[in-house]
This record gives sequence, C-alpha cells and structure tokens, in this order.
Amino acid sequence: MATLNIFIAQRFDGAAQGFADADAAAVSSHITDFFKKVCEGTGFNSASVFRNPVVTQIGASDLLCYLVSSPERSIAISKGATSLGPGGTTIPVASGSGVLSEAYLSACAGDSNRNKLLANLIMHELMHNKLDARPGKVIVDVHKIPGGAISKDVVTSGMSPSDADIKAMRRGVSGAVAQYTGGL
Ligand SMILES: [Zn+2]
Repeated sequence: MATLNIFIAQRFDGAAQGFADADAAAVSSHITDFFKKVCEGTGFNSASVFRNPVVTQIGASDLLCYLVSSPERSIAISKGATSLGPGGTTIPVASGSGVLSEAYLSACAGDSNRNKLLANLIMHELMHNKLDARPGKVIVDVHKIPGGAISKDVVTSGMSPSDADIKAMRRGVSGAVAQYTGGL
C-alpha cells in the first residue's frame, strides 16, 4: 500500500510574513486530516504532508501546491493564467508541463483562524488539481459539487471539508496528474 504525499512549496520568508514554522505545521495538520479521510477506500493507506520538496521527491500521484505571499507573486500568471482566484489558482501549464496550484497567504490576512483558512484554500486548489484542471476532467466544475464546502468558490475559515468534498476527491486522488515543478 502506498502513501499519498502532499507537498507545499513555500515561496517566501516565513519570518518576514509572520508565518512561523508552527503556523506551517498547523496548516499541514489540517491538510493531513482531510487527505487521510480521502484516502480511505482508495489505493492509498495514508497521507502525509511535507514542506519544500525537491523535484525527485514528487511521485506520479503526489500533489504539489505553491504557497506565495500574494497574487503579485503569482507563478500562475507567468505561466499563462488569464486571471487569478481570490485565494489561489490552479491551471494546466502549456505543453504538458503539469498542473500548477498556488495559494496566497495575503488572502488570509486578518482572519481569526488564518491557518485553517489557508489550509482550506490549499485543499480547494488541490481539488481543482486532481478533479477539473487536469487533462481528462474527473468532475466538470469543482465549485458545483452538491453538498460541497471547501470546494465552493468562496472558502472561509469556518468551513471544514464536507462528506461530499471527501467523496469527490476520492474519485480523482488515485490518478496520476503530473505536477508543475518549474517553480521549485
Ligand atoms: Zn476554485
């Protein structure tokens, strides 16, 4: 049995942004909880979240999300995104370079539970990554999953993944989706 690995590539200095190692750990913990539930009944027996990978760590079915300080630091905009989401963006990068997901720390500024909101935004983008931004969509539009919570277009820190979010992600999680590693 395999482990699903989720990698978060932080593209800013945490100390300068008030985002300490303990904050990153809290974000990772929320994401781990979600993906452990997603993995139940799939080919994965567990899920683990790691920070700041090197390319060779990323397996065929693994996930990668860039964490950037703000949309002004977007990687997606330099890779063909025509618009950016308020909390993050996921696009297929042209010429088979993989699917790129990114989330914006600035979208969580001032929130009473910043780390949970940031985790929800990352999970939202990773749902796009495995479900509707990939070649051969599994779901037409993640935002329209009936009963969805963190999959909706407006994501808050008060949300937790719903059963519908978990079940939807199970449908796509086992598929191999090449991740955009050009930003590592
Ligand atoms: Zn979305």
